[in-house]
Amino acid sequence: MRLEGKVALISGAARGIGAAQALLFAREGAKVGIGDIREDEGRGVAAEITAAGGESLFVRLDVTSEQDWAGAVDAVLDRFGRLDILVNNAGIAERATVEDTTADEWDRMMAVNARGVFLGTKAVITYMKSAGGGSIVNISSISGLIGSSWATAYNASKGAVRLLTKSTAIQYAVDGIRANSVHPGPIQTPMILQVFPNAETRESRMSAVPMGRFGNPEEVAYGALYLASDESSYVTGSELVIDGGATAV
Ligand code: NAD
Repeated sequence: MRLEGKVALISGAARGIGAAQALLFAREGAKVGIGDIREDEGRGVAAEITAAGGESLFVRLDVTSEQDWAGAVDAVLDRFGRLDILVNNAGIAERATVEDTTADEWDRMMAVNARGVFLGTKAVITYMKSAGGGSIVNISSISGLIGSSWATAYNASKGAVRLLTKSTAIQYAVDGIRANSVHPGPIQTPMILQVFPNAETRESRMSAVPMGRFGNPEEVAYGALYLASDESSYVTGSELVIDGGATAV
């Protein structure tokens, strides 16, 4: 198993890409902490892992709260005794131009998508240094690589994640901590249905993808699995694009 003996904490793992990562990591032998604000769905994912013979713990985690992060890391360490992998996955999205984005919406997007990743990273760094290393996987987006006609604060927040990842990688390489970003294209999750609520807009988004379809959450989870595992032991500060060719055009 690819994560045998390892312990992971995944934010936003109650549904979508985060839940797929939690289930896959558990199948590959990891004990998994599931942090989310959606308590029922989060506990459901943890129960699914336990029912399949794995080990999992749900912790209520609002990624914008430094206190919640401290509590989540403590809970995972108390329960599993170590923490090898952090996946900063929680995120929110919108569809709005510069003119249509309010200052409050900008702040909210940056709070969850950028501050949340910073606080998560900060919460595990001291422990990972003392433990001799770890892997931090930050879920950015292709919106962190290229501009968009329909997103504003989301792009800015995901661009911030891309470069925070590289600074983390550089600062802590000497401590055995690796940090990499994942850049999914459109993936079939509740988020995509919220951003593209009608079939017409979804079709149009899909037609911009050379593969002509949305990805599924597990296709992203396999990328995160590689970066989380020791298979990527010489990989840090890198960007893994999983987008059906969307940014190749
Ligand atoms: P989703 O909306 O289906 O799931 C996001 C999860 O994050 C939910 O469980 C939600 O409760 C949680 N969350 C939101 N705010 C939170 C907070 N403050 N604290 C803790 N948890 C919080 O979205 P998804 O599509 O699974 O997206 C997961 C990640 O992948 C996000 O960072 C997203 O930006 C990124 N991404 C998604 C797509 C896509 O097309 N779906 C594409 C590129 C990148």
